[in-house]
Amino acid sequence: MLRNKMNQNYIGILYIIPTPIGNLSDITHRALKILNTVNIIAAENIQHTNLLLQHFNIKNFLISLNKNNEKKQSDHLINELKIGKKIALVSNAGTPIINDPGNLLIKKCHNCNIQVIPLPGPCAAITALSASGLMYGRFCYEGFLPSKKQIRRNLLYSLREETRPIIFYESKYRILESIQDIIEQIDENRHIVIAREITKKWESIYGAQAAVLLKWLKEEKNRYKGEMVIIIDGFKKSKNHNLDKKILDTFFMLRNFCTVKTSVFITAKIHNFNKNNLYQYVIKNKHDKKV
Ligand code: SAM
Repeated sequence: MLRNKMNQNYIGILYIIPTPIGNLSDITHRALKILNTVNIIAAENIQHTNLLLQHFNIKNFLISLNKNNEKKQSDHLINELKIGKKIALVSNAGTPIINDPGNLLIKKCHNCNIQVIPLPGPCAAITALSASGLMYGRFCYEGFLPSKKQIRRNLLYSLREETRPIIFYESKYRILESIQDIIEQIDENRHIVIAREITKKWESIYGAQAAVLLKWLKEEKNRYKGEMVIIIDGFKKSKNHNLDKKILDTFFMLRNFCTVKTSVFITAKIHNFNKNNLYQYVIKNKHDKKV
């Protein structure tokens, strides 16, 4: 059961502290105050966090909590919290837990009725989304795109009709390949935004149709250097029955051998697509020889 302030068993507190994703001024007063006063800072990387603390003249006791030692360290930290210690959890950048270690510790806190206090702060996904122009009230967060090609392609294909904008984290090493996969698995005309080096010197945010963006990126390596977030615009239910090329290709191929009804039925099955949309297309384009 999730605990709340009314039923806590222990006086220890775990604070979740977001840290800057580039610009050090993006840390809050409250975050600094807590980093100064807790008994322990649990950091994804001690050296990295030490640089941050030095910048703000904070001296405190650090222990590491990363994906390799998360289980052992979480048990240790829970024992410290049970005896009343206050602990701050930080990652290398942004909000801990969001594609960063720490979730196991949070779960254990809830199981032991230890208070967890999250602070608001920097997060690359949300910051990128806010500037993307693709946000219409809802979004879908997918973390890092899978590194294995086929798994990545399957995932993208499964998201081709996701109507919310989709946020991915991506590295400069795979960005070109990933956009190529978006073109092949989703749509070369789908609008994509890349938010790169947010809050840093070379911050840039650019968007275009997938194929156009890929061509533009390939022209100049500097255009995809550094850290980045990709946002894929949500699937727009075709107002003018402007269907995905893959769906139409399948339909027209089948139409050479089958009736309209059967072609629509099989196409809808193959692409897991609403057959009524395809019927509407057929009705609207009935004078087209191919239909
Ligand atoms: N917890 C972090 C957060 O709240 O944003 C994310 C951690 S994840 C391990 C790191 C990834 O976030 C990077 O590979 C990149 O995709 C994205 N990222 C982090 N900082 C960024 C920045 N300044 N600009 C663009 N993307 C960034």
